[in-house]
Amino acid sequence: MKNLQEIIDGARRIVFFGGAGVSTESGIPDFRGVDGLFRQQYDGLTAEMMLSESFFYLHPERFFDFYRAHMLHPEARPNAAHRKLFELERAGKLRGIVTQNIDGLHRDAGNRLVYELHGSVRENYCMDCNRAYSMDWMLHTGGVPRCEKCGGVVKPYVVLYGEPLDKYTCMGACREISGCDTLIVAGTSLEVEPAASFLDYFHGRELVVINREEIPAGERATLCLRGGVAEIMGALKV
Ligand code: NAD
Ligand code: ZN
Repeated sequence: MKNLQEIIDGARRIVFFGGAGVSTESGIPDFRGVDGLFRQQYDGLTAEMMLSESFFYLHPERFFDFYRAHMLHPEARPNAAHRKLFELERAGKLRGIVTQNIDGLHRDAGNRLVYELHGSVRENYCMDCNRAYSMDWMLHTGGVPRCEKCGGVVKPYVVLYGEPLDKYTCMGACREISGCDTLIVAGTSLEVEPAASFLDYFHGRELVVINREEIPAGERATLCLRGGVAEIMGALKV
């Protein structure tokens, strides 16, 4: 912790690269951690299968049942890690959050410099007329959600397995990673591509890894901390 505090004190441009582990302490399960969704089966199907682009088009009813039951967490609130990142941004030290999370909790905490690589459950759009719908609206629908204006299918603004990432979000994220002096990688297994390879753009001084288990980026890290992201980030002084 002392080493992390020294790195943060000496940093001028910090970027935080996070994954599902950042939100487990807010009550949202991750995918590959010990209680992760990928460890379970749903009628013989895995979460990865059901969150794929092909499954969405072939079995929309089942997709939306799974999506509402497992991807939407309206009760979740930002934890100590989200709140500390807001303090760091307000202090002018944090230049960006690049997140694989879709839960919207960084924005809830007040951060503005957020690159949501995989989209957000907070946004939904009609596939025909592009009309926008909230997460609350989605929660109160059943079956395949239909647009109130034109009857088109309303699709969550979430990148499904097999779908490309948004070009402008990727460009912004890579720009921030390549220009920062300190990169904190936290709560991610780094198993999802292309997100994981964004770390190759980092050429700064300090690479900090915070995770409950060992991950590949640990080998390149100047500091590796094993433990809960919220607990570790929450203890920092800004
Ligand atoms: P992952 O599930 O593959 O890996 C999570 C990693 O974080 C694991 O290594 C786990 O040990 C670690 N971890 C879990 N809780 C932690 C904690 N409190 N402190 C420290 N480490 C912790 O997650 P990923 O790498 O982000 O990839 C999963 C994909 O699933 C992403 O693309 C993301 O879009 C999606 N996802 C998002 C959410 C969310 O929005 N909250 C939740 C689940 C999955
Ligand atoms: Zn419509």
